[in-house]
Amino acid sequence: MPDIPVQRAETFYLPPPPLPPDAWALVPPAELCLRWYEMRQQRRIEPPTGTLLGIQLWARIDANRWVADCPCGSAQVVTPTDPRFACPECGTGWIVVVFPEDVAAAEAAVAEELPAERFWWQADDPNPWNRPPEEQSPDQGQPVGEGVTSAMFGGGA
Ligand SMILES: [Zn+2]
Repeated sequence: MPDIPVQRAETFYLPPPPLPPDAWALVPPAELCLRWYEMRQQRRIEPPTGTLLGIQLWARIDANRWVADCPCGSAQVVTPTDPRFACPECGTGWIVVVFPEDVAAAEAAVAEELPAERFWWQADDPNPWNRPPEEQSPDQGQPVGEGVTSAMFGGGA
């Protein structure tokens, strides 16, 4: 399979034509998302000035993109080179994004999958969005299985 890297903000939020490809070269990577929305919505979207303390978002790989989920329900593509998140939907302040210590290892863990099937969550993410039950570690609850079956059918046999 050809090498298709996991997308980050720098490779996902690109300036649309007729802008030259390097038009946003000096924009901090975490702010590329805001420039991208600005172009599409045709309205000014200023980066927030403050940082929300006491909140952090957990980066995950979703269909070959590093994403983080805003508390408002929106999700944006993020990058380990500038681990901050500003939501163009709800206008929240900057939120720190937690990446795994070994980003390359996480990307390598999904490299054998088709890009659309590349999903990965951090083991200590307390609220892993859309994570299949079988992917969760034992201390995060048990998958639906024997317990439910025996409760429904009397079990014990
Ligand atoms: Zn939001």
